[in-house]
Amino acid sequence: MSAAFPIAIVTNSVTPAPETWQALDALEEAFIASGTAVERIHAVDDATSYGRLTTDNSAVVYVVDPRALRGDDEAPMLALREFVRVVRGQNERLPIYLFGEQLTARRIPVDVLSEIEGVVNAHEDTPQFAARSIQREAANYLAKMAPPFFKALIHYADDGAYSWHSPGHSGGTAFLKSPVGTLFHNFFGENLLRSDVSSSVKELGQLLDHSGPVADSEVRASETFRADHLFFVTNGTSTSNKIVWNSCVGAGDVVLVDRNCHKSILHSLMLTGAVPIYLQPTRNRAGIIGPIPRSEFDPAEIRRRIEAHPFIEDGDATPRILTLTQSTYDGILYDADEIKRTLDGHVTALHFDEAWVPHAAFHELYAGMHAVDDRRERTTDSLVYATQSTHKLLAGLSQASQILVQDSETRHLDRDIFNESYLMHTSTSPQYAIIASCDVSAEMMRGVGGRALVEDALTEALEFRRAISRIGRELPEGDWWFDVWGPESALSDGALQREDWLLRPGDDWHGFDGSVDDGFTMLDPLKVTLTTPGLSVNGEFADRGIPGPVLAKYLAEHGIVVEKIGLYSLFVLFTIGVTKGRWNTLIAELHRFKRAYDQNAGLRLVMPRFVAEHPEYRGRRLRDLCDEMHAAYREHDFANLSTDIYLDDPEMTMLPADAWAAMIDGEVEHVPIAELAGRTTAVLLTPYPPGIPLVVPGERVSELIVEYLRVESLLVDEFPGFSGDTHGLASDGTRTVACIRE
Ligand SMILES: *Cc1c(COP(=O)(O)O)cnc(C)c1O
Repeated sequence: MSAAFPIAIVTNSVTPAPETWQALDALEEAFIASGTAVERIHAVDDATSYGRLTTDNSAVVYVVDPRALRGDDEAPMLALREFVRVVRGQNERLPIYLFGEQLTARRIPVDVLSEIEGVVNAHEDTPQFAARSIQREAANYLAKMAPPFFKALIHYADDGAYSWHSPGHSGGTAFLKSPVGTLFHNFFGENLLRSDVSSSVKELGQLLDHSGPVADSEVRASETFRADHLFFVTNGTSTSNKIVWNSCVGAGDVVLVDRNCHKSILHSLMLTGAVPIYLQPTRNRAGIIGPIPRSEFDPAEIRRRIEAHPFIEDGDATPRILTLTQSTYDGILYDADEIKRTLDGHVTALHFDEAWVPHAAFHELYAGMHAVDDRRERTTDSLVYATQSTHKLLAGLSQASQILVQDSETRHLDRDIFNESYLMHTSTSPQYAIIASCDVSAEMMRGVGGRALVEDALTEALEFRRAISRIGRELPEGDWWFDVWGPESALSDGALQREDWLLRPGDDWHGFDGSVDDGFTMLDPLKVTLTTPGLSVNGEFADRGIPGPVLAKYLAEHGIVVEKIGLYSLFVLFTIGVTKGRWNTLIAELHRFKRAYDQNAGLRLVMPRFVAEHPEYRGRRLRDLCDEMHAAYREHDFANLSTDIYLDDPEMTMLPADAWAAMIDGEVEHVPIAELAGRTTAVLLTPYPPGIPLVVPGERVSELIVEYLRVESLLVDEFPGFSGDTHGLASDGTRTVACIRE
């Protein structure tokens, strides 16, 4: 393992005596003679290369310029301090050694001395002796790197035991008995297959009962994420949500649900038989989801709605759970502390679906804006849950997710009941590589490393936003460019400040009119909505426009795939994996798109693959296509329509679970779109984009939704390949919807 982690020797702008260079060469030879790889790094004085040292070396030897200790030149000492500061800002454990002439503790400033492992005096210590002690520390460092479960898994895979248990591929050997299997084996590699084991391997512990190394890792991650309990989940936050719900919601229970929630929450409604009361978020006319207003969380208002609800007999019922999408799909975060204070004792469990914010605990920008944090005040009564997709913003493999729980002052999680629900939804054969990625992605966030990673992503997101805005300002008057949705105040130079990102009622950038409460919500800078010309946040169409789907197709053709597409926007995520290269490539591609648009280039030239799939576009041009699509959106007022369908409250005629039962009983019929108004749907209808369910089983379809579906199908016919579609329509292409038989 250590071969992949060489010892780095850093010689920055150093002018030592020739004897010192010889001593350094001798040290390097001593390392190599005992099998340790060495990497020499010269003349790098920048934080990026220091930062890299912290990820792929097992120790660093920093060669100190003799002038730094003489005190006649400040620069070398400043360079040394900067080096130590940058390395320690990202990694508190990497062994750092100073190497030089006459290095004594007295001559090295205390702030540097307290951060390093040791010093090597060029002419006093023998190279072999110095090398051995550095190697010992390096080995120690590497040995402590892996968290418990991952460490046990590495050990198991290295050990090479023959297995007689499932999976049947037996550590990968089954694949090697077939040519296509060998192809698979070669592609994924030995380690993935050797570590793909069944839960009967004792030494790895059990995910299902949270024992052994898995449990040790979960406890460690709970400290890292500042929770009282943390459970790894290997089937996504879709499953985490169902586990939470099934552990605290029963048939007939009253529940409070964010109307713009993920499907898995609506599936939980169908599974549990609960009675939902929806909290309605606002939207701007560009289709961006805003916050649920503060007034919707008022306990008196909630009580009034319970009492008025036709499906609830007991007006005194306490809602079992509130599920809130934190952040919304467009990156709006709520003041979680305030919601916890307001609803404490009025709802049994407060559940924040934090699929998009597993990073929030690691940066002060988000303090109080996420659910679980043992540094903040606890609730007195209600339990607090957060479900997080580690695979979305952190470094988990797909499906890596986790459930965080914070006990209240008076109520503690019943782990036995909770785990029964966990077992209902968890495979008895969890995928160990996913568990290991839960473990490792948590470990990456531990200590100073977590903050550094989030800070880095925030810096890149801010620079991207500023770059887009600067390019816009530098273009000649009257020319067009893209924009980013977000506060203007954050675009001038200066540090990242929380103040800038809070939504204020008077601001006009967000387009949420008067429905924004002061300081109750903020935009997460990492969630970037890139807007194209054509539509204002108030829903006004410009003369010309560039529909988001056209830009998205163009970008996809050039290797850039975005997270979500709006009518005049694209959504890009700045995760902890973002690099300067990645977002600069996006900007370069936007420039190229602009040039192609301005020249009205042939589609066949700029999107050859798309045109090959859709020959009907042969001979057509980019700007013409944008104009036609823009005209169609405008003619049908599609932007307002796509927003309004989400704002009217559909009437619930039966519980979601009862509608599903009717579906199973065959009490449904397939109704064409034109006859849909007033009918009760038995399925979820979810338009893509944005992929947020519109009607829930058991609700009546409104005239407006019928109009939307009608226009959508016109657009699908007119612009094949570009328009989205609605999930829930029959899969046989008839564009019918399963409705409850009347
Ligand atoms: C993606 C998502 C989920 C589901 O997460 P997976 O890990 O994909 O199963 C749940 N809730 C929200 C808000 C999401 O965006």
